[in-house]
Amino acid sequence: MRAAVRPLLDIGLPPLCPACRELVRDSAALCPACWSKLNFITRPYCERLGIPFAYDPGPGILSMEAIANPPAYGRARAAVRFDDVARSLVHALKYGDRLDLAPPLGRWMARAGEELLAGADALVPVPLHWRRLWARRFNQSAALANAISAAVNVPVTTALKRARATPQQVGLSKTERAHNVQGAFHVPPGGKPGIAGRRLVIVDDVLTSGATVDACARALLRAGAREVDVLVFARVVDTVRSPI
Ligand SMILES: [Zn+2]
Repeated sequence: MRAAVRPLLDIGLPPLCPACRELVRDSAALCPACWSKLNFITRPYCERLGIPFAYDPGPGILSMEAIANPPAYGRARAAVRFDDVARSLVHALKYGDRLDLAPPLGRWMARAGEELLAGADALVPVPLHWRRLWARRFNQSAALANAISAAVNVPVTTALKRARATPQQVGLSKTERAHNVQGAFHVPPGGKPGIAGRRLVIVDDVLTSGATVDACARALLRAGAREVDVLVFARVVDTVRSPI
């Protein structure tokens, strides 16, 4: 339906850069200025958390944070830093009904998460509570997971459920965030066969404190998952962290 309607729409509405609304040639393409401001995360980074290092400490070095406060998940990777352009893209996908952004974002994520996806059995989007899903009409994490699935041919599972609605994480401290999502996710008995013994990759749009994906990883591990990694579009990198 969407594909059939598209050419007509394109005549009426010229494609705009999803970040700054400047005219562009292709829909779902960034203008050159925004493209140059997007910060892709590449090595060197903490092999566990995927947090970029300011300088190269050598292969396999972990961040202080990964050692002091190891997460429930194995490894986390992000395509880009969560800065202004990334925020606009996430916002357009999440609230602006720009579902056409999911395929390019998914492809960037597939590249960033290549090692995680290589041995993965399934992708697990972070679930929305049904009330929020109803209000927003779609789950941006599921849209990204479907886009990654199309790019790398790893299936998506919806076995992980949100047991209760949680207040938005925005404006909460790290401790409050962890408390907020504690016990919020679970795998119902019927979903366990698809989770037990599997290597899974949780998919989300943004990683801030990591509390949400950590709570998801705990729920999946409780259901018997063998390995759980995390792949997000953007991650917050607030300070320059030095390796040990
Ligand atoms: Zn732009």
